[in-house]
Amino acid sequence: MLEVAVYDTMPYDREFLTAAPGADRIHWRFHEFRLSAETASTARGAAAVCVFVNDTVDAACARQLAALGVRLVALRCAGYNNVDVKAARAAGLHVTRVPAYSPHAVAEHAVALLLALNRRLHRAYNRVRELNFSLNGLVGETLAGKTVGVVGTGRIGKIAAQIFRGFDTEVFAYDPSPSPEWASQHRVRYVDLPGLLAASDIISLHVPLLPETKHLINARTLAQMKRGVILINTSRGKLIDTRALIQALKSGHIGGVALDVYEEEERIFFQDLSGQVLQDDVLSRLLTFPNVLITAHQGFLTREGLSEIARVTVENLLRLERGEAFLEGTKL
Ligand code: NAD
Repeated sequence: MLEVAVYDTMPYDREFLTAAPGADRIHWRFHEFRLSAETASTARGAAAVCVFVNDTVDAACARQLAALGVRLVALRCAGYNNVDVKAARAAGLHVTRVPAYSPHAVAEHAVALLLALNRRLHRAYNRVRELNFSLNGLVGETLAGKTVGVVGTGRIGKIAAQIFRGFDTEVFAYDPSPSPEWASQHRVRYVDLPGLLAASDIISLHVPLLPETKHLINARTLAQMKRGVILINTSRGKLIDTRALIQALKSGHIGGVALDVYEEEERIFFQDLSGQVLQDDVLSRLLTFPNVLITAHQGFLTREGLSEIARVTVENLLRLERGEAFLEGTKL
């Protein structure tokens, strides 16, 4: 039986992975801790490791895995900035990911964040529970007629743009590899990034984290945005220079921010730290703003998303055992 070591396991990972077709042909070793060079020795005896967004497979970790006999690093997510793919390949490891398990889930979460933040639902919910039925401070804006800027029109950005169009907003998009046919079909207008930043009342980020997209949103690009803009990030935390964002929030230049990802989330997200003192002063400051809404990287977290992640991951693991090619588009 194929031995697979799963890292950063949550109860829902276990539930969906073991329910996927063919999962009974795998001997699962579920670990709650994360995979890194420090914990790699726990992969001994496994043919594959299954990792998520905050496991770290750097060159040192990849070499250790290969030396232990591991043959595959199966990411159960789309983004792979946490894996040194080149080093892993050089060590003789295959690397797979799940490129498009449910782009709708992430796009819908971006829209959910926008609606909640704009209509102050995060504040209203708490107030009503305390029997405070006052509406003071809960004034939002009607979305119809507003301009939404979608940065990155890949799988998720396209769906987000289409949903935003459904609110009767005008949608501007920026992508170095545009999709003109799709844009004309959905009446989305491609503009350059400065044009998008200057025109948008709402900006939603849907780009991968690459060396050239790190801190895409910084003091300079924040200053190019309209006063009062709402910024949504469901992609990767490091797309935003958080310190610059805090300054722009303090000055009132930014009207609101909704984040499903955070620059330093590796040490914080997916854990219950409720009984502890938060050591991250930047996140602590962000959490004090009434116009900031943060979720802990849950854009993917729908039953459909988890089922598809599990289906693709298990199928690739079984193909490894059978010596077959991995599912199309999943090999890095
Ligand atoms: P994708 O590869 O389909 O699309 C990314 C798009 O970004 C491409 O069209 C690409 O041309 C464009 N792009 C690249 N560099 C750009 C730049 N500098 N400016 C503007 N556009 C640029 O990716 P996707 O599946 O749509 O995923 C988008 C992001 O969402 C990924 O970074 C992924 O990490 C993130 N994600 C988050 C969650 C979550 O749970 N919050 C889940 C899945 C994916």
